[in-house]
This record gives sequence, C-alpha cells and structure tokens, in this order.
Amino acid sequence: TMNPYNDQHLKMYFYENRLKTFEGWPFEEDCLCTPENMAKAGFVHTPSENSPDTAMCFFCLKELEGWEPDDEPKKEHKSHSPSCHFIALKKKVEELSVEEFVKLQMERQKFFINKSNKDAVTKFREAGKLRRADISKTAMGEE
Ligand SMILES: [Zn+2]
Repeated sequence: TMNPYNDQHLKMYFYENRLKTFEGWPFEEDCLCTPENMAKAGFVHTPSENSPDTAMCFFCLKELEGWEPDDEPKKEHKSHSPSCHFIALKKKVEELSVEEFVKLQMERQKFFINKSNKDAVTKFREAGKLRRADISKTAMGEE
C-alpha cells in the first residue's frame, strides 16, 4: 500500500533490506550499478516481466530502467530526482535524530501522495473514458 509508515516501506530505510531485493539483478560484476551500489543509492529492485532492470528509490519513488554498466547509481538518482531528500542526506540513517527522521518522513509522505494522486488520475481518466462512451451511447438512444 502507498503508506510510508507501513512496515514494508519503513524497513527500506536500511541498506541491508534494500540490498536483499536485488535478487536476479542483471548487473553483478565489472560494472558500477552493482546491487551494492544500487542499494547504497536508495534503490530497491522492482522488476516486471518486460523490464528486469527496473529499480525504484524507496524514498522519492522515482523509477529508473535501462541501466548501463557504466551508470553510477548515486549520480543517476541525483540527476533524475534532484528533490529527493534521501540521496541528499549527509548522515547515515542510523545517525539521524528522531526529529530529523520525522522531518524526513514528512517529506517522504509528499512523494507518496504525489504518486498516489498520479495513479488515481490515471484510473479516473480511464473510468472517464468508459463512462463517456456509455453516456454518448445513451444520448444516441442506443441503450
Ligand atoms: Zn530518491
């Protein structure tokens, strides 16, 4: 679910948990986008059938695919999502104060709300299309 306070989402603050998601990641050796570097940069592996190399930042929810061996995960993350607070952190998560963590979670919530709204708009538009098709049929007496 799209709730940044849910356990599944909270545990992704920790490197080890993000790293575990990179099973079957296509870049293992002789490259910059190894599972370790991906996880360090905040990514979790979110593969689908058509794109085995999709990764998403657990914090800003930015999804990136089409990775090249020379791509540096931190650099890619910063350039595609400059407003992500996690990639801009100067401290380790373990070193954050409670206050800092709460502030971070509030910022994170905005990304979750934006993503939820985008998904909702897509569904709304799809439903709207179907509904309009129904309405025009009715208007034309085809009911
Ligand atoms: Zn991010």
